[in-house]
Amino acid sequence: MAKIQMKTPLVEMDGDEMTRIIWKMIKDELLTPFVDLKTEYYDLGLKERERTKDAVTYDSAYAAKKYGVAVKCATITPNKQRVEEYNLSEMWKSPNGTIRAILDGTVFRTPIIIDSVKPVVKNWEKPITIARHAYGDVYKATEYRVPCEGKAELVFTDSSGKETFRETVYDFECPGVLQSQYNKDSSIISFAHSCFRYAIDTKQDLWFSTKDTISKKYDQTFKLIFEDIYEKDYKEKFEELGIEYFYTLIDDAVARVIRSRGGYIWACKNYDGDVMSDMVSTAFGSLAMMTSVLVSPDGKFEYEAAHGTVTRHYYRYLKGEETSTNPMATIYAWTGALRKRGELDALPELCEFADKLEAACIKTLDSGIMTKDLVGLVSEGYPAKAVNTAEFISEIRKNLEASICG
Ligand code: NAP
Ligand code: MG
Repeated sequence: MAKIQMKTPLVEMDGDEMTRIIWKMIKDELLTPFVDLKTEYYDLGLKERERTKDAVTYDSAYAAKKYGVAVKCATITPNKQRVEEYNLSEMWKSPNGTIRAILDGTVFRTPIIIDSVKPVVKNWEKPITIARHAYGDVYKATEYRVPCEGKAELVFTDSSGKETFRETVYDFECPGVLQSQYNKDSSIISFAHSCFRYAIDTKQDLWFSTKDTISKKYDQTFKLIFEDIYEKDYKEKFEELGIEYFYTLIDDAVARVIRSRGGYIWACKNYDGDVMSDMVSTAFGSLAMMTSVLVSPDGKFEYEAAHGTVTRHYYRYLKGEETSTNPMATIYAWTGALRKRGELDALPELCEFADKLEAACIKTLDSGIMTKDLVGLVSEGYPAKAVNTAEFISEIRKNLEASICG
């Protein structure tokens, strides 16, 4: 059977540990037998980052900017222990942080849902995608532990040196705490564009929530920027697609999310997104079933799994022990990237292949063949048998072959 041909290469970012092992298995078993895979390969494994002084990470991000679609394997973010383990000359920065800064993108996390694993919230029928504005606010705040009585003020001096704002924050009569946060219009604008684009891309409603009734300048600015960009650039397209942009207060959003059936994107400020994405992903089941895509404001896409390199499994693998690591999120990173490449290059057969591979994965799980992590989550009355990673992938391949040849 003729392999599916590609036009533009995908930017392939290889990674570390167990996910690097799975990466190769997925390519060998599920991709290259069916697709004449065209990729521009970057090895973001920690050894290669060390050898190139991290240049490879920057090169891969610029390639993603150039070609528009990338697929990334999980990578180690070095800490003190990793510096020793890999004998690093420097504690290299998180590759995800570097790539995100270069693409100026927003991360969208979406759970993969199967019938046998019921979300904790029983009315959730479709995935809820969380978009987190990963810049500023409390993550870039300046803090002070106030030790004694005294006055705290907020002061702004413009670039000509003129003081244009001064207001008392609090007259402390005892010790306390103090914090100042900031954000930038440019970052909020990028965030808004990424969110509206991704809503159009996935044909889903977009919700956005802040606390603008209390934060009348800070959060209000977020609200107004979103509104303005929606009216100017996206309203027509949303109406044409029959999707909705919906702004509400964060507390109202939380209540509505719990009562909803899912099937929309929820854009959150930095802290809300941090907290809510952990809540939503736990309520849907498993980190191993969470996909993630970085979308830049000018429409570049980088697909990956939300989980890390699964170090504990890798150490067992190195000892020759059998591992049952779940490859679902990594497979979906590939299908997401291939489908997007297919859309951009007008290759319907590539999009169809991505659909078929995902369907083969779901069929495998529905038949009860799954990795260990999922078995404990399956509801009563559904089949569930734990297999190792290789067996799971080979079962997916059987289902894929049946659907392609059948
Ligand atoms: P992790 O790799 O996500 O794994 C944490 C635990 O979650 C695992 O030990 C495993 O639990 C379970 N798990 C995660 N993914 C799984 C899968 N696909 N199948 C089955 N079980 C899975 O997080 P970590 O151990 O905190 O981090 C390991 C390394 O990954 C670190 O060096 C970190 O820097 C890196 N990291 C990278 C990214 C990224 O590149 N996007 C993201 C996060 C972390 P059990 O051991 O109980 O089976
Ligand atoms: Mg968190």
